[in-house]
Amino acid sequence: MAQYELIDHEYDVVVVGAGGAGLRATLGMAEQGLRTACITKVFPTRSHTVAAQGGIAASLQNMGPDSWKWHMYDTVKGSDWLGDNDAMEYLAREAPAAIYELEHYGMPFSRTEDGRIYQRPFGGHMTEFGDGPPVQRTCAAADRTGHAMLHTLYGQSLRHNAEFYVEYFALDLIMGADGACEGVIAWKLDDGTLHRFRAKTTVLATGGYGRSFFSATSAHTCTGDGNGMVARAGLPLQDMEFVQFHPTGIYGAGVLITEGARGEGGYLTNSEGERFMERYAPNAKDLASRDVVSRCMTLEIREGRGVGPKKDHIYLHLDHLDPAVLAVRLPGITESAKIFAGVDLTREPIPVIPTVHYNMGGIPANYHGEVLNPTPDNPDAIVPGLMAVGESACASVHGANRLGSNSLTDLVVFGRAAAIRAGKVMDRDAPIPAINKSQDDKILARFDRLRNAAGSKPTAVVRDAMQHTMQRNAAVFRTAETLQSGVKAIGEIYGQLKDIAVTDRSLIWNSDLVETLELENLMANAMTTVVSAEARHESRGAHAREDFPSRDDTNWRKHTLSWIDSDTGAVRLGYRPVHVDPLTAESEGGIDLSKIAPKARVY
Ligand SMILES: Cc1cc2nc3c(=O)[nH]c(=O)nc-3n(C[C@H](O)[C@H](O)[C@H](O)COP(=O)(O)OP(=O)(O)OC[C@H]3O[C@@H](n4cnc5c(N)ncnc54)[C@H](O)[C@@H]3O)c2cc1C
Repeated sequence: MAQYELIDHEYDVVVVGAGGAGLRATLGMAEQGLRTACITKVFPTRSHTVAAQGGIAASLQNMGPDSWKWHMYDTVKGSDWLGDNDAMEYLAREAPAAIYELEHYGMPFSRTEDGRIYQRPFGGHMTEFGDGPPVQRTCAAADRTGHAMLHTLYGQSLRHNAEFYVEYFALDLIMGADGACEGVIAWKLDDGTLHRFRAKTTVLATGGYGRSFFSATSAHTCTGDGNGMVARAGLPLQDMEFVQFHPTGIYGAGVLITEGARGEGGYLTNSEGERFMERYAPNAKDLASRDVVSRCMTLEIREGRGVGPKKDHIYLHLDHLDPAVLAVRLPGITESAKIFAGVDLTREPIPVIPTVHYNMGGIPANYHGEVLNPTPDNPDAIVPGLMAVGESACASVHGANRLGSNSLTDLVVFGRAAAIRAGKVMDRDAPIPAINKSQDDKILARFDRLRNAAGSKPTAVVRDAMQHTMQRNAAVFRTAETLQSGVKAIGEIYGQLKDIAVTDRSLIWNSDLVETLELENLMANAMTTVVSAEARHESRGAHAREDFPSRDDTNWRKHTLSWIDSDTGAVRLGYRPVHVDPLTAESEGGIDLSKIAPKARVY
């Protein structure tokens, strides 16, 4: 193996990722006087969070009655009773404070006439514990909320003494012999140097893995790198079978049209011009939750009522709305519709189709952001020195299906929670973990193997095969047949990683090698997703099995854990109970448990 020199850095905390979750964690850690580094493979404000459109949910009550309990109930129901109640309570209760904090940081929210934060309706967010009409809970900065939020958080994190390592690609976690995380090794993309970050706490905030599918709304950088690192460290991933399809990706392009479009009054029609959601979800209609709307659209297309020459998509109408409102509230998607569909949405409908959008599964964590390594005796055992927040984590607040606008809330609430926890539990006088040569060698050997990979399969070819297989075999509707052939096909593609061809051997701006590292990470995600999905014999949230159409709370109200053998791609499954107890007892102002007990999920 070539000799690689490691440049050393020592910190209390190293955060990997500078999206909403990573930045909120970074600034919180630094604020508490912890020596903090944030490393990121793209410039912070280019993280996928920048693309978030519709908004961030919190029960502020600016546009009518609301309560954190209704928000919690909607999140529990949205999760199809797979989320952890303690984490979901924490999310809903802390959300308003998190929004005011963003406001005070200077985030340019849209405003009501009287100057308060503007809030729009969003799918699955209702009044009266789901019995009333939709609530206006989603705080928005026009349809560029993520952009406003990410820039605000980046500005704030520069105020504190966090140090940024930009365009550093994290390769792997340094894991101690005692199972604790001791830091991370990263490759600096512009000069080819390698860096060893040793830290008392490492926080993974690396985002989702949408790019394991062919058609996704997520950025090309959403390759589940943190999940891949955790899997290679021998730790489990959780609930990977739950992949959210957003109902309205632009047909052919995959670019997102925010749910805020339906929040502002948009609706879907089939080839007969029918507003079919009224038939499936009489109360919430077009604002039913995403898994429900995506399934209904797929059914309409299957039954021959799709639009277009191939009858393979659906129309989203905004042409009945006042163009002045569209210009103020939805300027971004007006532009996207023009560029990516050639449509003037003030006059004609937008062609849309369900598109992969969000990963509910990820690195198992508790509501403090601590990563879990469940054992048979202790399903909530933590990994010392390792935290995970944001889309890469599974806290689990989204369970089997995430409600729109709950992810941005998740980022800031749990980014902050992780910082509070680290501030509390970290021994500031403890030494930085010592150098761990055997781990370094292992990490560098893998890097070197991929850098010099001289097989016959170009990365792009293998990636393409993976993406099409996932799109076909882990789709909106699933059966034993599609999933079993998916497991087989992804297993075969996994085998091709051994025969990968990297043509560029340099260490400077080597995008060939970056994409190969990303592909290995994507493959770990893809493999655990199909195997977990094949094993779950029920339908819940985004996981819709045609051969097991009902939810089965007796046997399946539990989290899936999946461990992958990085060498062979073999996946082992285990399960972990859902946290049913909320954080606060009803007698102390918490939610009445009977309100959130499982029941049929209708909108
Ligand atoms: C188009 C779109 C619109 C959306 N709209 C909304 C919305 O309106 N409301 C809502 O609540 N949610 C929305 N979502 C979901 C939400 O935006 C995401 O779930 C969220 O932004 C993820 O944030 P994150 O901080 O976890 O990760 P990201 O923002 O994806 O950031 C990941 C970070 O990790 C870094 N990173 C990754 N791998 C490595 C590595 N190997 N080495 C170093 N750094 C690495 C990246 O550089 C980046 O900084 C939307 C998602 C999309 C795709």
